[in-house]
Amino acid sequence: MFKAFIPTFHATSLYEVPVDFYAKHGIKNILIDLDNTLGSYKDLHPRPQAVSQIEQLVKHGYNLLIISNNKGPRVRTYADNLGVPCLSSTRKPFKAKLRNFMKSHGFVPHETILVGDQLLTDSLVAHNLGIKMLLVEKLVKEDQWTTRFNRLFDKPLRAHFKKKNKLTHWSHAYD
Ligand SMILES: [Mg+2]
Repeated sequence: MFKAFIPTFHATSLYEVPVDFYAKHGIKNILIDLDNTLGSYKDLHPRPQAVSQIEQLVKHGYNLLIISNNKGPRVRTYADNLGVPCLSSTRKPFKAKLRNFMKSHGFVPHETILVGDQLLTDSLVAHNLGIKMLLVEKLVKEDQWTTRFNRLFDKPLRAHFKKKNKLTHWSHAYD
């Protein structure tokens, strides 16, 4: 049950995953959720950790896209500071906006992964798009109210997946 929510891989944080991990799985394109994956929803500017991670990913030749269900200006300011394209108001878990972007940029589904912290939006949209998914734990304590609502479902579902060994730790898929 709840198969559509099961991520391909799991990590505590995006920042613990080596940058060549993705290439080992044939991945060329990485869609990265902003809030509580890269930074806090309060961050207008990326933290040093985000800057260096993005730099490394770019250096490795991945195509990056920062994605958020949040609105334009803040997301754009954040992404501009990283020098990475972004898509705001993505309406995850609905796939239309991301699918259109992927199509117009030649992102092939099996070469694409989404990194995000929420089962209800990130994991489900990845499933809907037929792409891989790296689920991470929330990076900071604070959440927006919409996310706090989603966590009511996310928390028990995540616990269920952990108990049933449905979460594949990235290190078990890395050699
Ligand atoms: Mg998030």
